[in-house]
Amino acid sequence: MRYCAEELERLGLVPELTRRGAIRAVRRGGRRRAARAIVTHLDTLGAQVKLVKESGRLELVPVGHWSARFAEGARVTIFADQGSFRGTILPLKASGHTFNEEVDRQPVGWDHVELRVDAVTASKAETLALGIDVGDYVAIDPQPEFLDNGFINSRHLDDKAGVAIALAAIEALEREQVATPVDIHWLFTNAEEVGVGAAAIVTPEIASMVTIDNGTTASDQNSSEFGVTIAMADQSGPFDYHLTKKLIGVCREHEIPSSSDITAPIPLLRSRQATMSARRSWPSASTHRTATSASMSMRSRRSRVWSRNM
Ligand SMILES: [Zn+2]
Repeated sequence: MRYCAEELERLGLVPELTRRGAIRAVRRGGRRRAARAIVTHLDTLGAQVKLVKESGRLELVPVGHWSARFAEGARVTIFADQGSFRGTILPLKASGHTFNEEVDRQPVGWDHVELRVDAVTASKAETLALGIDVGDYVAIDPQPEFLDNGFINSRHLDDKAGVAIALAAIEALEREQVATPVDIHWLFTNAEEVGVGAAAIVTPEIASMVTIDNGTTASDQNSSEFGVTIAMADQSGPFDYHLTKKLIGVCREHEIPSSSDITAPIPLLRSRQATMSARRSWPSASTHRTATSASMSMRSRRSRVWSRNM
């Protein structure tokens, strides 16, 4: 949050921290009303200490929805009261020498992994004495790689890549001294992964909102690994007809590779939650008749390709 706010200040905007801890930075246009909003989210997946075990190791609960399958082997930082600790998330049966094929036969799930702290502790009392306790946050190392061919590969680019795209767009607007007809509200939310989304930060003067988030890559999705995916609908219904068509038109006009996608009706799909939350508590149609929303997404592993094509 601090880095993003500093970057916005460097770009000449005045970031404002909302009561809920999200960032709003308005880039002034010709008019206040009928403003546009571009939403990205700064929060990401992580974990919390659920229990300090008798062994001194830690049981975890995920922050946001993600499979423990991807947590196995992750290096992490635990934010304890008196400072931070490093550690590794490992399956309960991690030693091949001891467990042999049982390592591959154990189930996947948060009940089947634990966090081993890089500190001398062999008991619950010793771990507690380090200052580590239930509720402490655990941050997963993102392991970013910036490759010469333009690829950026990292854990949890959702939605850091979206934030980077937003900041790059602001930088380009400032550099080229672009005057927009209406205000643009650049919104950086902080609770998307736990389902709060942008609902609390959207103000009445905003007429349309585009959410930039990760896209879903699966065989039954019409998403693209190498371009923009424009979400046309999710399980709550279609997104705004005119705005989605407009986005498709913009892509066509500027030869940006894009595809249109309908989100599969799986309640836990993360990429649409910000938009869904915003839609649920959207101002009523009578007061804000022109309010529209759409969602653009990107393949998280292909952010450079996406942003370059913006
Ligand atoms: Zn996301």
